[in-house]
Amino acid sequence: MIHRSEVQRKADALVQELTALRRELHKHPELSNHEGRTSAILRERLESMDLELRTGLAVTGMAGVLRGNAPGRTVALRADMDGLPIQEKKQSPYRSEVPGVMHACGHDFHMTAVVGAAKVLSAFQDRIGGNVKFIFQPSEEKVSGAKRMIQADVLKNPDVSSIIGFHAFPLLPTGIVGIKYGVMMASANRFSIHLYGRPGHAAKPHLSVDTISIAAMVIQAIHFIVSNRIDPLHPAVVSIGMIRGGSAENVVCDHVELRGSIRATSNPVRDLIVEKIEKKVRGISDAMEGQYRFTVEEGSPPLDNHTEMTRLVETSAQEILGTDRVQRLSEPSMGGEDFSCYIEKIPGTYFRIGTGNPAKDTCHYLHSNLFDVDEAALPEAVKVLCWSAIRYLNENDGGESAH
Ligand SMILES: [Zn+2]
Ligand SMILES: [Zn+2]
Repeated sequence: MIHRSEVQRKADALVQELTALRRELHKHPELSNHEGRTSAILRERLESMDLELRTGLAVTGMAGVLRGNAPGRTVALRADMDGLPIQEKKQSPYRSEVPGVMHACGHDFHMTAVVGAAKVLSAFQDRIGGNVKFIFQPSEEKVSGAKRMIQADVLKNPDVSSIIGFHAFPLLPTGIVGIKYGVMMASANRFSIHLYGRPGHAAKPHLSVDTISIAAMVIQAIHFIVSNRIDPLHPAVVSIGMIRGGSAENVVCDHVELRGSIRATSNPVRDLIVEKIEKKVRGISDAMEGQYRFTVEEGSPPLDNHTEMTRLVETSAQEILGTDRVQRLSEPSMGGEDFSCYIEKIPGTYFRIGTGNPAKDTCHYLHSNLFDVDEAALPEAVKVLCWSAIRYLNENDGGESAH
């Protein structure tokens, strides 16, 4: 038996070490698929523990396996690794030293907490039946890392039976855990539309096909989809964030590119939106005598938490942090998260851990150039991860059956 006070003590004892690691990672953020330095730092930390380490997964990713004292199931704890193309504005002593790149989504926090969990759980190796796999995944922000990690067999050898992910969250107070049953986040798919017309002189519009006018109609029609073609009880968003076209005020523009994203809380709604966008673009292009090309990137499915695993993490968080430190979230977010790719394959759950503290100015939202985390939440995240893993392996029997 492992007593929770042992886990609490070990996690609390790591606060300085984890804060230093988080700051080291924060100072040197790297963009999606370029997490080489980050990978080297993690590798050095993990190599000092008794783990079976696999590096070079999806190029910069890695996974470490802690084998317990007896064969059993394997639970995975997942962190993402990438920063964002944002110039940090907060003047902290540990601010980003890389111009134009920043850990503005807290992935430095996630990596640190999973390293901390590896360290704490290593101390209980001889009292754990089964295995814990610590997964460090590149390129979450580009929604491509999880898929490539799965292709690299991160969920195999030993086969992962359940997976737990989490996100630092500035709108929850430090150390408060947010739990969501069912759909927690939306699907996210980027799309592009190329409209092709016929160039010409602005004074001779009848001899040309103007793609700027066509783009105006296409935008109107696309915004009609969510308001008029999707059941209002099924949340969905279609946004166009980029438009490019034209070279001079007196030249008819023969090529416009539109880029946007589609978000939905179910795959059928997402598929319906894709179908309707194509229908509108095709109809308008035909009617206006132009041509088009419409492409949708693969993206990530909605993040749909499994009930048994969600209950496991909720109960574990209540036990290790106290019932008053755990909240249930009632509504899904329309943000995307490629952790959903794992839980399409195996049972799992994703939770939030509060990092918002007005006294430390850490309540700015994710992706803000002022984003920061309250590092006091690090040991709290470690406790929840460790206690969930221990309960899963030693006591809890749920999860495997609940997909
Ligand atoms: Zn992000
Ligand atoms: Zn993130």
